[in-house]
Amino acid sequence: MKVREDGGIAIRQSWLNDFLQCPEKARRTMLEPELRIGSDLTVVGTALHAVIEQVLNRTLEPEAAPVMAEPALRRAADEELWKRTSLSDDEMIDQVRRMSAAWVTDVYPKMPSTGKVEWGFETHIGEIDGTDVWFHGTVDYVGGDGTVWDHKSSSRKYQQWEKQRWAVQPSVYALAAYKAGLASDTPVPFFYDVMLRDGTTQIVQLRRDIGHFDFVITQALQVAEFALNYGVDRPWPLNDQSALCGPKWCPFWDTCKGRHMSEPELTWKP
Ligand code: SF4
Repeated sequence: MKVREDGGIAIRQSWLNDFLQCPEKARRTMLEPELRIGSDLTVVGTALHAVIEQVLNRTLEPEAAPVMAEPALRRAADEELWKRTSLSDDEMIDQVRRMSAAWVTDVYPKMPSTGKVEWGFETHIGEIDGTDVWFHGTVDYVGGDGTVWDHKSSSRKYQQWEKQRWAVQPSVYALAAYKAGLASDTPVPFFYDVMLRDGTTQIVQLRRDIGHFDFVITQALQVAEFALNYGVDRPWPLNDQSALCGPKWCPFWDTCKGRHMSEPELTWKP
């Protein structure tokens, strides 16, 4: 969440996700963005996105996508702050190469041939006590047929039912495309094209209807109201009730729950 130049509040779907996982994580992400650094896995994802973007923008022939894996990976590694967790440089390059090839073979032929690549949006969703609230974001691809696409790299398969039921990103992106007139009808079809680390792919189809739009707007406005009224100087509620509260996924672990217990204590079992 950030304050716009016109005094309004801008909310990104990733920040709303953080808030829903743990409000204090969302607050600290605003105040200490420099602690939120990526990993070798996020660098692989950034490089894969860069290769896909070039193909969709027609600046790279699909057959040449795997060849671009190494330069894309080196650029991504230079441009973002990240820490190594499990992959060597060669393994990172190999993953980008393999996932790029899999995307070209399995996903690209199924995507609409025309569309908007890396479409940025600012969608007004309402106001709280006179302060306008907006969703801001960038969609990987909005097809000319009104479908919305997001590319993912993952070590695990996505569960369609989980994403259809709970995922925030499809609701926000489909709402933005619908309000901008890029998706003319509801429900808006949304696709996660998922490149798995073993070289296989998944196209996970979801859809978002008026009810999803109403709910995510209500959710975001309530969060904005909480932030505006409570302020960011005092800690927000802590929620540790998911695997995302741990040293691997929360950048604030060391100064939050990790202050109270070590990792062996966290994961102890008889
Ligand atoms: S360590 Fe857990 S409780 Fe603390 S901010 Fe992170 S997710 Fe929230």
